[in-house]
Amino acid sequence: MHELGLVFHIIKRLEKLAQEQNLSAIQSVTLELGEVSGVVPEFLEDGWKWAVKKSPIMTNAALKIESLPAVTICNACGKTYGTVEHGKICPFCKSEDTVLQKGNEMNIKEIEAC
Ligand SMILES: [Zn+2]
Repeated sequence: MHELGLVFHIIKRLEKLAQEQNLSAIQSVTLELGEVSGVVPEFLEDGWKWAVKKSPIMTNAALKIESLPAVTICNACGKTYGTVEHGKICPFCKSEDTVLQKGNEMNIKEIEAC
């Protein structure tokens, strides 16, 4: 379950940030999660609930997840299309010469703290 590893990674980053900026508690964290990142939001949330209890500064931090749509660009015709709907084959010209443009990322978008 690599979601738990991700949760610890995020919490570590936020603890460092809180230290640098003298924050006493983090109230919420908004994560952007790419549609094809392979991360299951439910697992992330489960891991989060368990892991924040181990971090005094994060104990009450809520996790908000925003889904980022995945987009693929076609090298043959230059058009972009939704990855989830069409996969690796361009719906415009049927080329397989396509590259995922976005949708594989996970970013910390914003945090609320006091
Ligand atoms: Zn194409």
